[in-house]
Amino acid sequence: MEVKNWNLEEILAVYHTPLLELVYRAASVHREHHNPREVQISTLLSIKTGGCPEDCGYCPQAARYHTDIATNDLLSVQEVTQAAIRAQAVGASRLCMGAAWRNVKDGEEFEHVLDLVRAVNKLDMEVCCTLGMLTENQAHRLENAGLYAYNHNLDTSEDFYKEVISTRGYGDRLATLDNVRKTNITVCSGGIVGMGEAVEDRCKMLLTLAQLTPQPESVPINALVAVAGTPLEEQQPVSIWEMIRMVATTRIVMPQSTVRLSAGRTEMSTEGQALCFMAGAGSIFAGDKLLTTPNPDMHSDLNMFDVLGLQPTPAYSKAPKREPLEEEETAAEREERIRWSRPGHKIAANEAYAAAAKEVRKG
Ligand code: SF4
Repeated sequence: MEVKNWNLEEILAVYHTPLLELVYRAASVHREHHNPREVQISTLLSIKTGGCPEDCGYCPQAARYHTDIATNDLLSVQEVTQAAIRAQAVGASRLCMGAAWRNVKDGEEFEHVLDLVRAVNKLDMEVCCTLGMLTENQAHRLENAGLYAYNHNLDTSEDFYKEVISTRGYGDRLATLDNVRKTNITVCSGGIVGMGEAVEDRCKMLLTLAQLTPQPESVPINALVAVAGTPLEEQQPVSIWEMIRMVATTRIVMPQSTVRLSAGRTEMSTEGQALCFMAGAGSIFAGDKLLTTPNPDMHSDLNMFDVLGLQPTPAYSKAPKREPLEEEETAAEREERIRWSRPGHKIAANEAYAAAAKEVRKG
């Protein structure tokens, strides 16, 4: 299929199309490339929570802010397997495991993550990880363990990124996506709406994603969940209309990608979510928590599927299962040392919240 070469003006024009016309157009594109009756149920499981050295302004897991999340070390194979089986029993066909790391480091913890990937793969679930920045060798090792997808969000435009995060650069995100692309692992990358960015930032992010070759197989669209103690705690919730616009624009700009309606669904009515599905959202994250933030309970999601006549998408409907290779074949090849960037520019809100958290810890 020929991929359209978008520019920013065209994406902005799509975003600003009158809403019902936009939804109609997105729904038409969705029907050309996807089964509109199916929505994939995915589960996001935090396998290592909190204590992260990064300063993402939206994230309660950043060690430098004072939030009330309960931290935990890496979950065991048994804990993850049980969570996966529970999710599968209610229709989930993908498990995404998240670890609050800046980047993956070779060693015991990474070896353990590879075991977790093998265990979930055995259950015939699509297994996805989000572990921070990743070298090419680490991507290959995850591929050999049977990883199906790697999530690494761009979050927003390159310009606005500098106002939210100072501990790494946009180029690192793109380099990680590039490393994943050198394997057969599918790419999952999207963003967050409602951090104070302009519409232009949202569309610039979509442009960057649309210019990846090939475009990401998955594009999660999150609404910011403002968590107390994080620099973005005062942000007002984004309106459902903006979410619908963002989903629809993503669908039109990247017709083949699965658009994933991700964080922020607790603020959305069934009617609002229905319009998102109409506009091309092909997946939700289910379970009562998304890493650390609240999410609708499974019962209400299943009820919503029932009301809307939706079916959960089966596993491996977009790309075949990856069979893990034998241990000998995946023997650790030690990685060239990559120096991920540390821009270190000052973000006033991040600094103020980190300083306040320091005081709380002292006190
Ligand atoms: S979003 Fe990820 S990298 Fe950023 S602070 Fe949270 S856990 Fe760390």
